[in-house]
Amino acid sequence: MFKDFLNLIYPLQCAGCSSPLVQSEKAICSGCWMELKNFDLHDQSKFLYHSSIQYHYFSYRFIKNSVIQRILHQIKYNGNKTAAFVLGVELGNLIKKQHKVDEDCILVPVPTSIKKRRKRGYNQTEIIAEGISSVTNYNINNQLLVRKNSLKTQTMSTVFERWQNIENEYQLNSQLSQKSDIIIVDDVVTTGATLHHCIQSLEGQYGKLYVAAVAAV
Ligand SMILES: [Zn+2]
Repeated sequence: MFKDFLNLIYPLQCAGCSSPLVQSEKAICSGCWMELKNFDLHDQSKFLYHSSIQYHYFSYRFIKNSVIQRILHQIKYNGNKTAAFVLGVELGNLIKKQHKVDEDCILVPVPTSIKKRRKRGYNQTEIIAEGISSVTNYNINNQLLVRKNSLKTQTMSTVFERWQNIENEYQLNSQLSQKSDIIIVDDVVTTGATLHHCIQSLEGQYGKLYVAAVAAV
């Protein structure tokens, strides 16, 4: 039973390939780390999803049926919080290396609905933010944005419907006492619809705005 408990904290199988981990490996095996494709910084300009965004921090390129998709799936649907935290640490190191953000900035994880949170037991973007915070010391504010519960399941809808669907699903829950630089934290950026609507809701709260995600298409 104790071993099971440890398994929950440090899953003993790799999130990318399910092979057993050796003691020095946390959540992701060294072979899978090597398979991950770094996001090309030269592609930054292509990813201006929103004119307010100062800079994007993306660790890896999202490729279907690859290691990154399997890892993100484990994080989202299989309770692998350790993998989320470890990838957050990577992202934090990337942010530190780029030196583009001021020190008093706030991490705002993309919110999930209360229903989904209850089902999973956590919101993966908050765990990623905790990983970022562990190396950058930025504060996390997970009360600023909330998500309504009524969202239809997205897998059933077209891209256009998804944009419409997300409209107004993210709401400002509280006001900051003063404007602050904000980094929105997400697990994966695909259409940019989520970001767009989060930014709309954050209007008036931020000075400079950044985005950090584990992966982007
Ligand atoms: Zn692996």
